[in-house]
Formats: sequence, structure tokens, C-alpha cells
Amino acid sequence: MLLVVNSGSSSLKLAVFDGTVEVARASVTEIGPDGHAAALGSALAKAGVPIARLRAAAHRVVHGGALLTETCRVTPGVLAGIAACVPLAPLHNPANLVGIEAVAALAPGLAQYACFDTAFHATNPEVAVTYALPLAERQRGLRRYGFHGISYAALVRVLAAEGPLPGRLLACHLGNGASLCAILNGRSVATTMGYSPLDGLTMGTRSGSIDGNAVLRLAEVHGVARAAEILNRESGLLALGGSNDLRMLHANEASFALQHFAYWAVRHAGSMVAAMGGLDAVVFTGGIGENDAWMRKEILSGLAFMGVSSDPDANARNESTLHDPTSRVAIRIVPADEERQIALETQAVIAREGA
Ligand code: ADP
Repeated sequence: MLLVVNSGSSSLKLAVFDGTVEVARASVTEIGPDGHAAALGSALAKAGVPIARLRAAAHRVVHGGALLTETCRVTPGVLAGIAACVPLAPLHNPANLVGIEAVAALAPGLAQYACFDTAFHATNPEVAVTYALPLAERQRGLRRYGFHGISYAALVRVLAAEGPLPGRLLACHLGNGASLCAILNGRSVATTMGYSPLDGLTMGTRSGSIDGNAVLRLAEVHGVARAAEILNRESGLLALGGSNDLRMLHANEASFALQHFAYWAVRHAGSMVAAMGGLDAVVFTGGIGENDAWMRKEILSGLAFMGVSSDPDANARNESTLHDPTSRVAIRIVPADEERQIALETQAVIAREGA
């Protein structure tokens, strides 16, 4: 059996796969003083999965930088590579490393693998990932990376299994963190998140795109650490509408926050569509993308000029017409399943290793 781990600083999600069958799923929302290994051990016990039955573990790792661009076995070199990306993802990568250490403590010698959230965007052209900064600054790793890659790879897999993949696919991962991706012939060519997940769309608590000089002003007034907290944890929908949960915003009729989210999703969608030279299909995933029909309709009506239908029933109808050449722009919802994607990619690596 394969254990899939998504380790956060104070929380942990796991799924267990037997081949392609998911046999268990669990999450720990508050890791106690005994740490990640203890939390993982008790979650597995509760799920009825004996540690001795595990053949490998696979981890979601947020940042793989410019070098770790494929799912791979965790070796000392890969661990060093993940650690080298800590400055790029100061909250996430240390927590992902703790998850790897926890598995090593719980099941010494178990083969471990890493799957990177940045990897799917490794196909973006140089022109898309380069910030127009002096060379010395670019050499610090200051470039666009993009995130939500495991989710995008998953939806490409799901759609490709159903029939020919639409050539120019606008993928919208709309959750607490939100981004768009231009997927041309199955490969990412542009995405809205950049050096960090702060860029792009208005998010639950992140500002989305903001002028660098405005960031400098915040740092001048509050200091760097506080400015980072404001931009990442106190901005976005929370700042505009008092909640980072769309259900609350609808209930409270926080229409400006909702309009802001939709408006900027449409503005950035225009940029993604330009990067692909047109649009054949729009796919939604993530907590908002999957559940909020109002938001989907609002975004789709903003894209009407590109031949997108915002008919409230379009989602349902187009479900079966994604590969129908007579529909101009198909619309689909694909439930996010990053754990399965990690499991399948890892199983493919294991199969190659054994071959
Ligand atoms: P994360 O980015 O943390 O993985 P999710 O993809 O789970 O987040 O999305 C969480 C967000 O999805 C919530 O904050 C909320 O705004 C939104 N959401 C979840 N369920 C619904 C729903 N039924 N209707 C509208 N929005 C929803």
C-alpha cells in the first residue's frame, strides 16, 4: 500500500492507496505536542492501516524550485534540494520536510517519494517565468514558479481519460488559494501565481497581484515580517468582505468582495487566454470552483466575449459535450484530487525504478 502525505506546519492530511483504490483518508487538524510522527501513527491506526503493510510513502512538497521538476525518490540530494527551496516557501517546505522525517521515524527504511506543486509549470517558456530584473537578482531565484501544479496535472489526467484533450484549456483552481493556468496541448504555458502563491487572483486571505512599490511601502510602514503577514494572512476576501469563506460572503451579501474575486479572475483569464492564443475549454476545480455556481456563472459571463456561455445549466450540459467539436467553449467541473495524482505519479516512478 502507498501512503500519501500532505504535511502542514500544524496539520496533516493522509490518504492510503492499494493500487488505484483509495482505502483510507484521514486528517489531523491540530498536531499535538508529540509531533507529526505521533499524529501520523495514530491517524494510520485509526484508519486501520498497519504500518507494516506500507510499501512506500509519497509527499506533497510545495516548492521544488528550478531543479526538482518531476516526482522522484527522496534521496539525500533531493532532501537537500527541498531544504534549499525553504527561502522560496518559508512556511510550506519546512513543514513538508517534517512530514518526510515523521515517516522516516515511524517506518525506518520505507521508500519515500516527493511530488512538487511547482513541477507542472516547468514547461512555461522563459519569457513567461522571467522577471525583468538585473541578472544578479534573477540569479537569486527571483522568477515565476507557479503552484497548484498537482491539481492541474490531475485535471488534465481526468479529462484526457475521457477523450481528446481540448487544445487550449483555461484551468481555474479556485479555493482558499486560487490560481489560473493556461494549458496548451496538455502542458502549462502560463499561470497566475508567480515567485510565491501571493500573485494573481484575489484569494481568501492573500491580496493577489499588487504593485511591488506598494509592497515596499507596507514594509516601510510595518517592517518586512508584518507586511508579509498583512499580504498573506489579512488581505483578500477577508479584508474586503470580513470572511475568507464564500458561503459567509454570500450570506452577508458582501457583494464588493465577491465582485472583486470575479473581476480579477476574468482579468487574469484574459491574460491566460492570450498566452494560449485562444480558448477551447474552461475547467473549474477547488472548493469555490466545484461548489459555487454563482461565482462560476459570474466568471463565465465575464468571458462571454470569447464565446463562453454563462447559461446556468451549461456546466451540466457541457459535461457530456467537452469533446463535442460543435460547442464553442466547453465548460467542466473536475473535483480536485491531488492525493490520487500523487499516488499515480509515484506508482509510475516505482514501476520505472523496478523495470
Ligand atoms: P484550500 O485552498 O485551502 O485547499 P479549498 O479548495 O478546500 O481550499 O477551498 C476552500 C474554500 O472553498 C472555502 O474557503 C470557501 O470559500 C469555498 N467553498 C467551499 N465549499 C463551498 C460551497 N459549498 N459554496 C461556496 N464556496 C465554498
